[in-house]
Amino acid sequence: REEKLKDYIGKESKTLDGINIRLFANIKGPEDINDVTDNDAEGVGLYRTEFLYMNRMNLPSEEEQFEAYKTVLSETADKPVIIRTLDIGGDKELSYLNLPKESNPFLGERSIRFLLKNEEIFRTQLRALVRASEHGNLKVMFPMVTTIDEFNRAKALLIEEKQQFEAENDLELSDIAVGIMVETPSAAMISDQLAKHVDFFSIGTNDLIQYTMAADRLNDQVSDLYQPYHPSVLGLIKKVIDSGRSNNKWVGVCGEMACDFKSIALLIGFGIDELSVSPKSLLSIREYVSGIKKTDMEHLSEEVLSCDSAEDVLYLIEEHLNLT
Ligand code: PEP
Ligand code: MG
Repeated sequence: REEKLKDYIGKESKTLDGINIRLFANIKGPEDINDVTDNDAEGVGLYRTEFLYMNRMNLPSEEEQFEAYKTVLSETADKPVIIRTLDIGGDKELSYLNLPKESNPFLGERSIRFLLKNEEIFRTQLRALVRASEHGNLKVMFPMVTTIDEFNRAKALLIEEKQQFEAENDLELSDIAVGIMVETPSAAMISDQLAKHVDFFSIGTNDLIQYTMAADRLNDQVSDLYQPYHPSVLGLIKKVIDSGRSNNKWVGVCGEMACDFKSIALLIGFGIDELSVSPKSLLSIREYVSGIKKTDMEHLSEEVLSCDSAEDVLYLIEEHLNLT
């Protein structure tokens, strides 16, 4: 089977009816680059930079970050690399910062909220990203955005750091595409407005499910309510994809739902442009995508939205894909 999957190296990820789905990889850092190239990813769809900041006693310096980003960008040549700014908080703590304990960390000062409040930490990362952008095809992505104002403030800081670097070094860098993770119901609900500001969306289904279902993604007591196939979650995903399409912005998915064949079928039916998955599952997903038709999935994905429950949705999908 491994051997058979190798046949998909160098191939396009295209449905039977000719729709290209870009297959990108999720990475934690430069140590994953071999997996990205070995599995023929078309780019990096999510570089989780928080791993650079974790399991140590202090913040990574600008230089250290620059080296890590540069390595990833130069080793992927001209393929797109989407680097997500620090997504700390929730379950991901940085003990050396001695931040106050929160009673609801997932609803607290995490991700972009933390970065906007701790501007020096944010600017250091943005400077490292700007400098690294010379070495490849960088796109920057902000996590856990809930308002347009957060996006605009974060983007303004990136532009400021870029202009300052250009002025200091008397050079002009190419534009850097800037997008957001859509992982809060708020962002999904205003995705049509957000789409006028961003260059792309990447749907973070792991958090989007947690916040839509109000069920902590790590709490076993409520794991029965953590339902990727709940019609509420699917309706939000559909809305984000429609908003991207109608504003000519591409939309990807970088949460776990991008790795499951059943949800991939729905996402393709909804009109997704890109899936970012763990490198090791990439070729099996390319094989799967190559065997389905988008037009077959369109009707199914319309139908699931009016289902009463996740069970009903799953039943419909399984019936449609002849899995029963
Ligand atoms: C997500 O929330 O779906 C996501 C991809 O980000 P993370 O899992 O790192 O929160
Ligand atoms: Mg997330």
